[in-house]
Amino acid sequence: MKKILCLALALAVMLTAALAVADTSYTATVDSQIGGVDAVTCTVTLADDGTIVAVTVDECKDTPGICDAAVKAIPEQMVAQNSINVDAVAGATLTSQAIMNAVTAALTEGGVDVTALSEKKEVVVEKAADEQLEADIVIIGAGGAGLAAAISAEQNGAKSVIVVEKMPKVGGNTILAGGALNAVDDRSETAVKQNDSVFWHYTQTLKGGDYQGDPELVMTLVSNAWDGVMWLKSMGMEFNEDAIFTVTGGLWERAHKPVMPVGTGFFDTYNRYIDAHSDVIKVMLNTKAEEITTDANGRVNGIVCTGETGNTITIAANSGVVVATGGFAKNVEMRQVFDTIWGCLDETVRSTNHEGATGDGVKMMQKLGADFIQMGNIQLLPLGDPVTGSLAGNIEHNVETRVFINKEGNRYCDEGGRRDDMTNALFAQTDKTMYIVMDSDTYPTGDELNNFGETANQLVAAGRAYKADTLEELAAQIGVPADALVAAITEYNRYCEGGDKYGEKDEFGRSLFATPIDNGPFYAAARVPTVHHTMGGVRINTSCQVINEKGEVIPGLYAAGEVTGGIHGANRLGGNALTDTVVFGRIAGASAAAGK
Ligand code: ADP
Repeated sequence: MKKILCLALALAVMLTAALAVADTSYTATVDSQIGGVDAVTCTVTLADDGTIVAVTVDECKDTPGICDAAVKAIPEQMVAQNSINVDAVAGATLTSQAIMNAVTAALTEGGVDVTALSEKKEVVVEKAADEQLEADIVIIGAGGAGLAAAISAEQNGAKSVIVVEKMPKVGGNTILAGGALNAVDDRSETAVKQNDSVFWHYTQTLKGGDYQGDPELVMTLVSNAWDGVMWLKSMGMEFNEDAIFTVTGGLWERAHKPVMPVGTGFFDTYNRYIDAHSDVIKVMLNTKAEEITTDANGRVNGIVCTGETGNTITIAANSGVVVATGGFAKNVEMRQVFDTIWGCLDETVRSTNHEGATGDGVKMMQKLGADFIQMGNIQLLPLGDPVTGSLAGNIEHNVETRVFINKEGNRYCDEGGRRDDMTNALFAQTDKTMYIVMDSDTYPTGDELNNFGETANQLVAAGRAYKADTLEELAAQIGVPADALVAAITEYNRYCEGGDKYGEKDEFGRSLFATPIDNGPFYAAARVPTVHHTMGGVRINTSCQVINEKGEVIPGLYAAGEVTGGIHGANRLGGNALTDTVVFGRIAGASAAAGK
């Protein structure tokens, strides 16, 4: 009897063990819009009753810092909701979708019927208690300007800094930027070699903005730019030291390129600093500022926010509030109301911007009587992805090595010119579409990265770029007349080789050339106009204090970054936006800490 009992027990244990290991895992890899081919690999594990017990993202080639929020949240949501159809993470929608696609593919390829698991579950979020907080400095927006301001406030003596960010991640538009930062180390060997100076940067910024920029603000920008680079380096940020380049619309070789892709280097640096000073600086994600409050004397004294669960979070600011909410390029209504340049900024024109660029700061400061300048000055780029409008997928490295080719196979503008001129020219082309064309001088093997962390070969495999041994084959791939393309490149190459030394001028007035486009394989990628930067904004002085409609300082209120106006005028130089976030972010933080 005892023996039978033991046997029965042993069998039961074995059965339980067998049941316990009855979970089955499935793995698949899919492409994503951001990272090209084989970008996301996921493993999903189902219990024997079909419920999801685990989801892991084994590999994600989308840019770290941009996709992190989705990599963390989507698997958690899938397990919690037992569904593979969950809400995308705001600001990381493409990666979210790629993770869901990979999980779906893994299950489908594994023969699992996904009908039940694909059902969207209703998620009930319990509202957390309202909160009342207090800090010396309160900052709205954890993009480039906001985090620069937070760090600067701490470095200038603030004992407590709270940054609120409405999205689930820091970074804003700054993290999506190409990474180019204009700065001149005046009279350095490099500046002398590039024939550059702080004053030439000043002149080009003012002139490039049709002299609409406030000269004092422009001088503040350019004369503090190099110190900004040194400041970033002092916190460990690395730049590609021998790669000072001309970014599109930058007009001069003075852009510094971070080692990390796109804008991620800034946030890697800022996050490390903030983590090391977490006793002073606190960043609250998923917290949306709704209102800026004032005391009886009109001094700004705090903000009211909506928290992640819909609760109200009130934050008192002892010394000041810094508005660093970025621009409004993603707010179609606002850009239609304010636009004075383009006349056509409806939803058919896409944007390079992140979802959060909706002009909240403008609306909040309007209620305080702040003055706004040049709101109609909206910058478009001729460099948008035809599907998403984003800058990703752009194969160019710098101005000198590429041309723009229209659907007729011809060049049509000075590709080294101002951003507004180049975009206007693109609007006039067939289907408002052009191809960036370049050769293997930029991509010797095709495995080299573009400025957005993608290799040319990945983009080609994903159908987002083209590669061919000859210009004729390239023309066939992109559907333009081969004879026109060959003629356009042949003529262009004459100038690369010094054609203008005979007194001729490039037909479009281009003056920035490198080596000829004659080294196959050749590359092409389609681009369309895209809304990029809202150059108008709130009026500030050189201390980043916000000015009201009567020309007076609004006490306790500071602003920095894209939410401000009067720096870039009618046209922003490429590479000046990141400089703007660093220089004016730092000033805003220091001014707020000093209470001036
Ligand atoms: P800048 O280049 O001026 O720093 P960014 O776009 O990089 O601008 O950053 C602005 C940040 O402000 C974004 O992360 C955006 O989500 C955030 N933001 C915008 N509106 C609000 C708001 N109402 N509350 C909190 N954060 C906001």
